[in-house]
Amino acid sequence: MKGDLRALDVRNKKVIVRVDFNVPLSKDFQVTDDTRLRGALPTIEYLVEQGAKIILVSHFGRPLAKLLPDGQIDRNKFSLRHVVPALSALVGKEVEFFPDCVGEEALQKSEQLGSGDILLLENTRFYAGEEKGDPALASQMALLGDIYINDAFGAAHRAHASTTVVANHFDAAHKAFGFLMQLELDNAKKVQIDPKHPYVAILGGAKVSDKILLIEALLDKADKIIIGGGMAYTFVKAQGGHVGNSLVEDDKLELALELLAKAEKLGKPIVLPLDSIAAEKFAADAHYKNVPSDEIPSGWMGLDIGLVARVEYEEHLQGAGTVLWNGPMGVFEMEAFAHGTRALARAVAEVTKQGAFSLIGGGDSAAAIEQSGLADEVSFISTGGGAMLELLEGKELPGVTAILK
Ligand code: AMP
Repeated sequence: MKGDLRALDVRNKKVIVRVDFNVPLSKDFQVTDDTRLRGALPTIEYLVEQGAKIILVSHFGRPLAKLLPDGQIDRNKFSLRHVVPALSALVGKEVEFFPDCVGEEALQKSEQLGSGDILLLENTRFYAGEEKGDPALASQMALLGDIYINDAFGAAHRAHASTTVVANHFDAAHKAFGFLMQLELDNAKKVQIDPKHPYVAILGGAKVSDKILLIEALLDKADKIIIGGGMAYTFVKAQGGHVGNSLVEDDKLELALELLAKAEKLGKPIVLPLDSIAAEKFAADAHYKNVPSDEIPSGWMGLDIGLVARVEYEEHLQGAGTVLWNGPMGVFEMEAFAHGTRALARAVAEVTKQGAFSLIGGGDSAAAIEQSGLADEVSFISTGGGAMLELLEGKELPGVTAILK
């Protein structure tokens, strides 16, 4: 099978592994959430066991968008050297670091690696060519290794030098997906190819405009689409409801009606929240009350799905064979407006227990499930918000295509 890491002979080979080590750091440069480091462990540990020489490559933050006042790159703040202690502790062996990701010295360093050694290179985004997918930068990177592995699912929707273009320098016997990337692709397949029905999709978050393509793809694949979060109010307003100051994309009202009409024609319900928790202002301590979603008083804004909607949404999930969740049901970052999201998280965990396959999109949905303490009770939480969204929209991810060709 193309892209299968286990099919490659990696012993004593220099293996470039593109990982996603874009982890959050505290002010004193300690890793505050090591999820992404842990995500890469299965691939790294396998390569160590197999006696490969491992060269880890990653981006870290946006150094070129946040230059120092003198116009220079902040080579300390955006250095991947800060993740070395946490990574070494996780893999249980010393990880070496080199402060560049290409060039003569980086090449020498990679040549000196022994079997099972791990070398982490500096932030690929110190080079402007990285995000531009510069072929010259990619060929320099390719010189570092005999084999290229892509395990950075979160960056797979970007045609960057280290995620996509570099793979063109390796033939099928010398490139593959890492285990995290493979796991993400396998789980996405479960909702895309022959999903167990009924297939219920739950969409939330701020904007309809971010989810249009996903809704269209789901009208094809899913049986029912449940909508919550800020995006619900564009639909409610489009149908003539009063939504006060709720988040609305006025230029998407027509599109919302078109999507509703298309869904009706296909006999696939788009379910909107009957009621909402409306607040006087966008603040954690705002006064709030439960009102019908189409009767939100002027000046007030819907910040969570209401009590009736929660019960109704839980009922819609009963008996589901497949559940996809992308986007919170409200402003879950504020305790007062996190209850709808939490209720849905519990309902998703419950149907999973009853045998449904549940896939949670990355980003805010993943954060919401973690916040609810239910991360272990769903089938799969994606590590890549944008990448998973594009995959579910039916798009090809450049980082994936580059490995398969
Ligand atoms: P997204 O990135 O599109 O998934 O949106 C996630 C963001 O949507 C979170 O930061 C939520 O606070 C926000 N959000 C969810 N519901 C609402 C709402 N009713 N009004 C305003 N923002 C919301």
